[in-house]
Amino acid sequence: MADALILVVEDEPTIVEVVVRYLQREGFRTVTAGDGEGALRAVARERPDLLVLDIMLPGLDGLEVLRRLRAGGSLPVVMLTARGEEIDRVVGLELGADDYLTKPFSPRELVARVKAVLRRTQAQPAESAHTPPPLVVDTLRLDPATRSVTLAGAPITLTSREFELLAFLMRHVNQVFTREQLLDQVWGYTFAGDLSTVTVHIRRLREKIEQDAAAPTLLQTVWGVGYKLSGPRRVP
Ligand code: CA
Repeated sequence: MADALILVVEDEPTIVEVVVRYLQREGFRTVTAGDGEGALRAVARERPDLLVLDIMLPGLDGLEVLRRLRAGGSLPVVMLTARGEEIDRVVGLELGADDYLTKPFSPRELVARVKAVLRRTQAQPAESAHTPPPLVVDTLRLDPATRSVTLAGAPITLTSREFELLAFLMRHVNQVFTREQLLDQVWGYTFAGDLSTVTVHIRRLREKIEQDAAAPTLLQTVWGVGYKLSGPRRVP
């Protein structure tokens, strides 16, 4: 993890300088981009392991950059937001940012978040020498080895956090979890978000896996308690 390549996307030179200095001090390699187009070019050229992405950028803003990145994969992203960008913050998470920090932020805190996101996203294949077997519930099939999901045989595209939420629920099929438990289990204690983050992700997952997101049969609400993934577990 220490030599991971971090792409820092921000147009304010003083912030770039401080962030780069702190990341390099921890052994990370860094590249920088000062606008959205430059960020997309740098992703294609440098293949970074993680992006630190400011929302306010000249040209394509950070949200548009994230939207385009998410169309093509699940590169880990830590967003930077300014105060008063509450809506942007939620949208950022809906688009699948892995974490965010509000300006002004402590560079030390940013480095901690970067490490936490890398640990979480990189640990999955390495943690178990044996590739975990696919999970199958009803017509949903999730393969941890390839991080792919199909619904009745048709591939569906999930953000990295949606994938982790679904994987957690599939591992614990027919068990009910509160939003607090899901935030703790899927996002982890370092995450600064609130419970509405869970609600947003449940809604997004439903839009992708349910025939009718308004009348979910798989990802069910248990009133007054929380959520469960319901269905027969099948042998892969
Ligand atoms: Ca900026």
